[in-house]
Amino acid sequence: MGSVVSELENAGIKPSYQRVRIFEYMQMNRTHPTADQVFLDLKDAIPTLAKATVYNTLHALAEKGLIRELSTVQPSTRYDYAAEDHGHFTCRICNRIYDFPYDFDSRHSALSGFVVESQEIVQKGICQACLKKAQQNSAFP
Ligand SMILES: [Zn+2]
Ligand SMILES: [Zn+2]
Repeated sequence: MGSVVSELENAGIKPSYQRVRIFEYMQMNRTHPTADQVFLDLKDAIPTLAKATVYNTLHALAEKGLIRELSTVQPSTRYDYAAEDHGHFTCRICNRIYDFPYDFDSRHSALSGFVVESQEIVQKGICQACLKKAQQNSAFP
């Protein structure tokens, strides 16, 4: 927990108990949760937790670059703790989000004179697991 506290402090976020728990949750759960999911998972362990605190904390963490806000992944904003750059694949059947390696540094902005502040690579389609299921279902005699 020590490093979580110092990471928050280094980013200029006061490490209150609830913020530490939320940031810790993001580090341990690489499932790209929505703010609602984070709240639901933590509310039993932290009875005093308010939904607004979760929303505000996730937003502040994203603003400081400690987590990422994935706004192009619908239907609602997902959050992601990731030290390394990666792209996302979203499955339209099961709605899971998969990570894949993607090197953003090797790409340049196509617009000269523009400053890129954030980038998201999102691929959409059907994941391997759902494809397999569909194949099995249509394979009966
Ligand atoms: Zn799927
Ligand atoms: Zn991700």
